[in-house]
Amino acid sequence: MPVDIAQYQSVLQTLSSSHTTLVAVSKTKPAADIQILYDLGQRDFGENYVQELTEKEAILPKDIRWHFIGHLQSNKVKYIAPFVHLIHGVDSFKLLKEIDKQAAKCNRKINCLLQVHIAQEETKFGLDEQELSEVVAALDTLQHVLVKGLMGMASFSNDTSKLREEFRTLKSLFDRYKNTQQPWSVLSMGMSSDYTIAIEEGSTLVRIGSLLFGAR
Ligand SMILES: *Cc1c(COP(=O)(O)O)cnc(C)c1O
Repeated sequence: MPVDIAQYQSVLQTLSSSHTTLVAVSKTKPAADIQILYDLGQRDFGENYVQELTEKEAILPKDIRWHFIGHLQSNKVKYIAPFVHLIHGVDSFKLLKEIDKQAAKCNRKINCLLQVHIAQEETKFGLDEQELSEVVAALDTLQHVLVKGLMGMASFSNDTSKLREEFRTLKSLFDRYKNTQQPWSVLSMGMSSDYTIAIEEGSTLVRIGSLLFGAR
């Protein structure tokens, strides 16, 4: 399936009134598809797999802002540390410490989001409320990570009131901690199927894949 340029423009239109950032999720799609949106001005792209990301980063334009949105294993942080723009799925302090260590080696600071478990499904990764408060309380000890906010994934469901409720939960946690340290500015929530609800509930950044690049 080709890149849907009309859909891309329509999504941008929808996002512009709420000043929401679009991360185009390009996992499993070829570099040529990324280049098509790049040529239209898109700069934020999201990937889920470390090896796939490093291969694409090597051949695509250097001013792309790469978002790592998958589940990141500690032993793979070093491969993306030199260039990654924002790591969305940080779900343990152990992982955050490893990112801090690798960022120090690269002599940079790495932007991160803490992932919160908001869906009903057991399978989705993320911190619960208690773990979130513990991680936030320990952030002062890390010098090379900049936590910018929160990320979450709602349930796979057609029940819009349930999705809305989950997004609201995430937004209220965001509001609770957003002024604790360095002010938070990023609330990453919303995908192809639920991004309009996420925007209504206060998302500042949506991660959209299949709507733009076709089904995977
Ligand atoms: C794949 C993925 C997306 C994009 O999903 P679509 O339904 O294709 O828009 C967004 N966020 C995360 C964390 C993903 O893994």
